[in-house]
Amino acid sequence: MTLLGPISLHGGHSGEFCCHARDSLADILERYVQRGFRQVGITEHIPPVHARFLYPEEIEQGLTVDHLYQRFAAYFKTLRQLKADMADRIQIFAGMETEAFTGYLPHVRHLVEAFSPDYIVGSVHHVADICFDYSLKTYEAATRACGSVEELYLAYFDRQFEMIDAVRPFVVGHFDLVRIHDPHYRERVKQPEIAAKIDRNLDLIKDLNLVMDLNLRPLARGEKEPYPTRFILEKIRSRQIPMVPGDDSHGVAQAGNHVDAGIRLLKNMGFKTRWPVPRRLEIK
Ligand SMILES: [Zn+2]
Ligand SMILES: [Zn+2]
Repeated sequence: MTLLGPISLHGGHSGEFCCHARDSLADILERYVQRGFRQVGITEHIPPVHARFLYPEEIEQGLTVDHLYQRFAAYFKTLRQLKADMADRIQIFAGMETEAFTGYLPHVRHLVEAFSPDYIVGSVHHVADICFDYSLKTYEAATRACGSVEELYLAYFDRQFEMIDAVRPFVVGHFDLVRIHDPHYRERVKQPEIAAKIDRNLDLIKDLNLVMDLNLRPLARGEKEPYPTRFILEKIRSRQIPMVPGDDSHGVAQAGNHVDAGIRLLKNMGFKTRWPVPRRLEIK
């Protein structure tokens, strides 16, 4: 069985359940229906495993690890209710987006047991336990911790390999997010040591039969191409790994944006545009 038409399998972050997003989950889901989506995957960020992984805005609001865990429980409860209530209009997949900071594996295992998500998006936002995509400042701090931008890429792809192998996420999120604040990323991903790690990770994704996120967030920021960049997309196509759009939306105004452009890009490159149905795979 496959899914057809506009889709996003990574996104739907809401102000209700994420401090750096806006709006209610119900309003975001209504927006997908309005835009003609017959299916969508919602993947809120998992809560932190330790207080040192709280985001600045969470600390500002006085939130604790415990609060965020409770909020995550409320997210699944609300999402499941909406999934049932809206079932005649849109098929909703209740997912979550992982992290790969220290201690993530037992944490993710526990969350899967506690909340039985329909599927997982496997993402890496931390290198050396620094959230490098949060700001240019944190990107530079992560770069310093690794020694150079090149070392940052190498560490990122190593952590990603380990996460994919352990978590077996149905969708691998924004594969080359590590390029986020690097103006020279197009040349960087071709650097032989980095390209070898990219090839290794893609081979693993292929072996495990996983799906990749065509992440459209860069287009929302006015950038020219989604994650991953063309050089990597070609490697993915040659391995025949399925790609599915993800708007990585963080509010009503972003829900479903650029999905049409993403689907056009996939079609033009010769990717399949019948989408696999999300499901949960066994964690190691
Ligand atoms: Zn987010
Ligand atoms: Zn992410």
